[in-house]
Amino acid sequence: MFNRISQVVRGAALADFVGAFGMALVYMARPKATVLYPYERGPQSPRFRGEHALRRYPSGEERCIACKLCEAICPAQAITIEAEPREDGSRRTTRYDIDMVKCIYCGLCQEACPVDAIVEGPNIEYAVETREELYYDKERLLDNGDRWEREIAKNLELDAPYR
Ligand code: SF4
Ligand code: SF4
Repeated sequence: MFNRISQVVRGAALADFVGAFGMALVYMARPKATVLYPYERGPQSPRFRGEHALRRYPSGEERCIACKLCEAICPAQAITIEAEPREDGSRRTTRYDIDMVKCIYCGLCQEACPVDAIVEGPNIEYAVETREELYYDKERLLDNGDRWEREIAKNLELDAPYR
């Protein structure tokens, strides 16, 4: 009786081994599911919601007209704007802050903006060491816009038919 049980257990173990070995061979022949980040990267959707940026027009003028729609719609109350009219009568922000710790990356600020000024760009690599570094001010956001404008403009163009 004991020998019979032992034979059954050994048979089951052998069947498991053969099954696992076969599966390993199948997966070895398939393309890799992982990439060697940061040297390799997977594809990214044009709708990807990464680090925020404030954009300018090609002339260098800020797009933002200080309408505060993004501030009003932000469900995390992460955006703080102060504004005043310029000498030429145009209205521009004097302060545009985003608390990136509060932000939930919902994209509503971008959706609400009538002039495509505030956007969530393609950058995912902005890890920092202190909380304070995640308080973005206008200068930082405009710098991001300048740095990523080419990719942002291309992504907006690709996504335009679906908006
Ligand atoms: S992505 Fe959402 S949570 Fe973040 S700043 Fe924009 S509206 Fe607020
Ligand atoms: S970023 Fe857009 S929505 Fe926000 S204040 Fe400026 S123009 Fe208005």
